[in-house]
Amino acid sequence: MHPRFTSAFATLDEGLQQALFPFLEEADFKGIFSADMLSTLQQASGLNEDALALALLPVAAAYAVTPLSQFNVGAIARGVSGNWYLGANMEFSGTPLQQTVHAEQSAITHAWLSGERQLQAVTVNYTPCGHCRQFMNELNSGQQLRICLPGKAARTLGEFLPEAFGPADLNIHSVLMDERDRHYPLHGDALCQAAITAASHSYAPYSGAFSGVALETADGSLWSGRYAENAAYNPTLPPLQAALILVNMRGGDITTLRRAVLAEPEGAALSQYSATAATLSALGCDSLSRVFLPAG
Ligand SMILES: [Zn+2]
Repeated sequence: MHPRFTSAFATLDEGLQQALFPFLEEADFKGIFSADMLSTLQQASGLNEDALALALLPVAAAYAVTPLSQFNVGAIARGVSGNWYLGANMEFSGTPLQQTVHAEQSAITHAWLSGERQLQAVTVNYTPCGHCRQFMNELNSGQQLRICLPGKAARTLGEFLPEAFGPADLNIHSVLMDERDRHYPLHGDALCQAAITAASHSYAPYSGAFSGVALETADGSLWSGRYAENAAYNPTLPPLQAALILVNMRGGDITTLRRAVLAEPEGAALSQYSATAATLSALGCDSLSRVFLPAG
């Protein structure tokens, strides 16, 4: 079992520990619980779905990267497929706080990048901040998304964010996690192609600046993340952060980044390049190249 789980695991009830141990013990545990795994955990623990998600939050929070705050937040995005995706907050020393990833963004992006089409619920160990409420308001689950917190009855996103401003106010009706593929032509090596594919599936209805980032870590693994805009602009998640979420949640190491590629349209209204290069540099990676996508 990865040492990150040791203290979280010790806090769990014995029945859950016994059922969970074989999953966490697997070298290729990817921070995802399949419907089959969850059925095993429910039987062993006697917990219903909501209670099981709450019980597993310490396991999600064990992925937190918090050099600044040491305040570890864990979240679980529960998909309509039956899979649950873990997420945790991430901070990056030496970069502005705006580069921070919140746990809800991590779990939701983890689900989206894993092919999940819609979420039923998000379970999190602290009340969602305003930024995350607005981020979740961009999802295709809409105001009915269930938010589950320790010690409280589940409520909908609409109850957490009344009188919301969202995509419909800007006449956007195909929203975050809806299926999309811009089919940008692939070229270059595997890392370039991963960045281009991520851009094809990115969500940029407000700027049209579709983008993706692909990362290579020291062990040769490739990871890619998609850009996700927000109607309120600031809760937008950059493509680098999406890729870093995937590295962290799938068991990679963000301190061993070797090479990165950003794919974005030529001549777009905005560019991810400078911010991506700065955050990568703070993480010890100075090898960022850019491939341009066809405009429009
Ligand atoms: Zn938040």
